[in-house]
This record gives sequence, structure tokens and C-alpha cells, in this order.
Amino acid sequence: MSFQRSKNLFKKAQALMPGGVNSPVRAFKSVGGSPLFFVQAKGAYLKDCDGNDYVDYVGSWGPMILGHAHPKVIAAVQETAAKGLSFGAPCELEIKLAQEVTKRVEMDWVRMVNSGTEALMGALRLARGVTGKNKIIKFSGCYHGHADYLLVEAGSGALTFGQPNSLGVPKEMVTHTLVAPYNDLDRVSHLVKKYGKDLAAIVVEPIAGNMGLVLPEKGFLEGLKKLAHQVGALLVFDEVMTGFRVGWGGAQTYLGLKPDLITLGKILGGGLPVGAYGGKTKYKKALSPEGGVYQAGTLSGNPVAMAAGLATLKLLKTSSYPSLAQKTKRLALGLKRLAEEANVSVQVPWVPGMLALYFSEQVVKNLKEAQSSQVELFKLFFHAMLKKGIYLPPSPYEAWFPSLAHGENEIALTLRAAKLSFREIKAKKK
Ligand SMILES: *Cc1c(COP(=O)(O)O)cnc(C)c1O
Repeated sequence: MSFQRSKNLFKKAQALMPGGVNSPVRAFKSVGGSPLFFVQAKGAYLKDCDGNDYVDYVGSWGPMILGHAHPKVIAAVQETAAKGLSFGAPCELEIKLAQEVTKRVEMDWVRMVNSGTEALMGALRLARGVTGKNKIIKFSGCYHGHADYLLVEAGSGALTFGQPNSLGVPKEMVTHTLVAPYNDLDRVSHLVKKYGKDLAAIVVEPIAGNMGLVLPEKGFLEGLKKLAHQVGALLVFDEVMTGFRVGWGGAQTYLGLKPDLITLGKILGGGLPVGAYGGKTKYKKALSPEGGVYQAGTLSGNPVAMAAGLATLKLLKTSSYPSLAQKTKRLALGLKRLAEEANVSVQVPWVPGMLALYFSEQVVKNLKEAQSSQVELFKLFFHAMLKKGIYLPPSPYEAWFPSLAHGENEIALTLRAAKLSFREIKAKKK
């Protein structure tokens, strides 16, 4: 297996782009080595520029739940693009996508934007606007995009780089951001007691996918809702990752708890840049042009992105989710069993469509525990799998995303590679 062309391209890219990439985690910093450059993607597979094929578990970091290049999504994009890329004015596809979204996710209205980052910025401005308060509580290891005041103990790429607080963020920008460990209701209760008067929102990933995969403990999210409402703050579920993935209605229906505001992204655009936020009718009135909370976007709601999202959602049926859950479970349980057979301690938490692999003896409940897993073993495992044609997220703090295009065959290939890889890393560690 040669990676020579990728290596050559990476050299060129590094001269022209910081780190050779347009988003940090792609640079392979946390696993070492040189990132691959891809030329094509189809179904569960990626092809790199050296002609190697991989079973893909990155799925463009979440959007590709149908698998890559689904013919119906591609056709919708092509047909729509031929009629114009963007009008900067209303089009019917915006309504159609909004209908599909509100049919699934319990929200009365939706505002489309161009990324998850923008969705969070909009939702939290709205929460501050309607409450007239300033502070927000977030959780360490939760990633809510790269806005200044949200890059505090953030997950994902910010974690990989060991620098949770970015340079270039003035201290004043984060004075209203309070941070608690995930699953630590006592800490939140303490913060609410102390700062409740000025608390606008508690924002949380209801299933945390930016520090691997951490599930909410029983009562945690219910507790957050109660505490937020006690002081007139809003509960915001960041479902940019979990929306349309863990179930038909996202994490809020999967877990059976309704927040006040919801953010969406990733699958919503089916591979094109779309984010969204929304909630109950009473908050709709506060948002510009109906109300005084401003937010806008030149390309927001453009027909091509709306068409990609609409085609993707239409192909996601209620019956898709049991099948996705079944695949994820097979993969997760298989990985756990094979690791045990090789005498390697792992945790493989999973929910439908998402899983993570921690080299750890204990269940991971928060960021600190995620960071105390054996990252060195993950690096070895990552490269062992890559050489066997399995493309995993290049970081121990990112979730894996199996898609509906991953069949029995791909899962068997993955488990066969994992069996060998666990043995290899065990031998190396001795
Ligand atoms: C990916 C992600 C974001 C940011 O979305 P972008 O489109 O990358 O800006 C925000 N929140 C969560 C939970 C995410 O997973």
C-alpha cells in the first residue's frame, strides 16, 4: 500500500494552507503520519489519490448517513444546481426542508444557516435575547463550533491540540461562559445557585460525540432542564451531530426529553454546508425580522444546499434506524469481544449510528476520563487499521459514524482488520 501521492500533495498543501488543511483534525496531528488525500467516495468507501480503497467511518464527520454519493442526493443537487446556485431571496425548497425537519424534530420553526457553528451562535444569541441575561453553562469536552465564547474546554479538534482555549480569544469574551464536567449535576447546581440571576442558557450535547462518545447518565439531562427552568434560563440541545442520526427525531426523542432550543447541522445538509436552529413558537417572534435578535446569511437557505438536505432526509425512513442500530451494535460488540480476545482493555460505547473506542479499563463518563484513556494505543490501532483499508477518525476523541451503506460485508471486513490490529498493538506494547 503506497501513500506516496498523498505525501506529495500534503507537502504542497502545507506551503499554501496552515497545516496543509482547512480544518485542524484532518492533519493527523493526534495520530501522527501524513493525512490522505481522497479523490472519490461511494457508499461506505473512500478512494485515496494513490488508488487505495477504505471502508470509511468518518462519513465527513457525520453528514453521510446514507453513505457517500447516494444517486438520489446527487441527482437532486445536479437538477437544482442547473437552475441556479443561489438567489439571495426565498425559494420553495426552504419550505420543503423546513417541513421535513419539523416533521421529525420537535420544533415549531427553523432558521437555516450554513454551519453548526453558526447554528450555535444564533441559538445562544436568541437565548440571551429572550431572557435578557448573559451567562451560559457549557460542559468540558462538548464542542459547539468555533465561536470565541464557546472555545472553552471544547472537544473535537480543540482537544486534540491540547489547547482548549484558543489564542486570539480575549478573556472578556469568555467571562460569561461557565464550564462544568459532563454528567456532574452537582457542579451545575452550584453554578446555577451562584450565577442563576444572569443565566441565559445551559447548552449541552445530549449525547456527547466530541470527546469520543459519552452518554448522559440517568437523570443528568432532566436535572439540567429543571435547574435551567428554575432560574428562567433555556435548555439548548446541540444536536448538530445527533440530529437525524441516533433516531428519527434525534437525541431528544431517543432520550425522551424536550429542550427549549435545538441546533442542527451535518446530516441536515446531506454533505453540503447547512446548519439550523429552532424551537417553540414564542421564540420565533424574537428573531429578526419578526423580533429584535439579529442574525443573517448571504447563502443561507440556498436551493442547492436545501435540495441536498431534503433528498437526504427523504431517504431516511423511520425503518432506517433499527437497521442502523443493529449495524452499530454488531460493530461495537464485535470490537469489544476481539479486544478482549487479544487481552486489550477497551470501552466501546455506542448509540445508533455512533460509537467510540477508548483504550481504557473503565466506562468513560466525562472529559477527564476520556483523556486518561491510552491514547498511544489508539494511535497504533489507527495506523494498523489504515493499512488494512479501514479509515477511522484520526483522533481518539472523535466518534465513528457507520452509515446505512455499511453492509454485513463492510462490518465483517472491519472486524477482521480489528482482530489483527488488536493483536499487533498488543505485541508492540509488550
Ligand atoms: C460539528 C459540530 C458543531 C460544529 O459544526 P460545524 O458545521 O463544523 O461548524 C457544533 N456542535 C456539534 C455537537 C458538532 O458535532
